[in-house]
Amino acid sequence: MSLAEQALSYVRAISPYQPGKPITELAREMGLPVERIVKLASNENPLGMSPKARQAVEAAIAGIERYPDQFELIAKLAGRSGVEPKQVVLGNGSNDVLDLVARVFLAPGRSAVFAQHAFAVYPLATLSTGAELIATPAKNYGHDLDAMRAAIRPDTRIVWIANPNNPTGNFLPYPEVRAFLETVPRDVVVVLDEAYNEYLPPAERVDTAAWIAEFPNLVVTRTFSKIYGLAGLRVGYALASADVADLMNRVRQPFNVNNLALAAAAAALDDSEFVDASYELNRRGMAQIVARLESKGLEYIPSYGNFVTFRAGDGAAVNRKLLEQGVIVRPIGGYGLPEWLRVTIGSEPENARFLEALEQAL
Ligand SMILES: *Cc1c(COP(=O)(O)O)cnc(C)c1O
Repeated sequence: MSLAEQALSYVRAISPYQPGKPITELAREMGLPVERIVKLASNENPLGMSPKARQAVEAAIAGIERYPDQFELIAKLAGRSGVEPKQVVLGNGSNDVLDLVARVFLAPGRSAVFAQHAFAVYPLATLSTGAELIATPAKNYGHDLDAMRAAIRPDTRIVWIANPNNPTGNFLPYPEVRAFLETVPRDVVVVLDEAYNEYLPPAERVDTAAWIAEFPNLVVTRTFSKIYGLAGLRVGYALASADVADLMNRVRQPFNVNNLALAAAAAALDDSEFVDASYELNRRGMAQIVARLESKGLEYIPSYGNFVTFRAGDGAAVNRKLLEQGVIVRPIGGYGLPEWLRVTIGSEPENARFLEALEQAL
């Protein structure tokens, strides 16, 4: 028997995550200079990082010989979210905290519920524990909460919800999420992934952290990778009841977030100017791209994130033609949407480059 055959069968059955194509990879493949390439494939912030965060990173280089101390960032997040510091769990990106929840509550013989077309990390986190994944059919490309509620079995321990969802951009109004929480058994954890929360129009935002006192089975996750522009530093966090946070911390690597990332995240939280500018740029860029999709008669899913998913026809073929022109978007055949492509909202000139290339590609 080969060594690979000795591996856990549920690990061997996992299909690997497919990240957005890196700029340098396309440059090598197409022989294009890096500067000619526009990457709108991973929902990264076109404004880069906050200048305050950059300064904090530079300052934190002095002290890099020391192990990180999470105290300050946790205190800040707790203060802003209105929870106790012991309710905050930091992650090496929010993917890390999703994994921590899975490791605390899932194992072979247990199950987790997620929605068709929802974020790819939920299947990964679930299947890597040996638990069974229950996928419910999407409703208008988004989560069907009634179907998800009905899919909960006695062995179900986690329900994964992305709001807004990636890659479809769907948003569940918060009264619906709350009504769902009221019907879910209290021994089932509901993970509410709010990676795009800061892109929501103010009228839609709700302080979900305040719900944890009432629903101790609620885990809210957020990230510094999207509007805060720190995807490469890897910082995210979970807000949970103190008991759940304590359990997550037991399986967390003690130093899972590095010094530079901690410093950058703490500074980024204070730079509301940068967050506001990022929000505005996204709002305008979304209008720019959606207007053109509409004028071309291309179907798209109205999005509450910093990306929009549109029906390209043969997604793989259109994607190839975009790549040939140095434009990287995200094919989402792996999400069961082979006719669709997801494009991240970039800067105004990046969006224009994408729209020109799309014109050629169709
Ligand atoms: C981007 C994204 C995340 C964040 O991932 P990080 O690990 O924090 O970079 C989490 N959830 C969803 C739905 C996302 O799209």
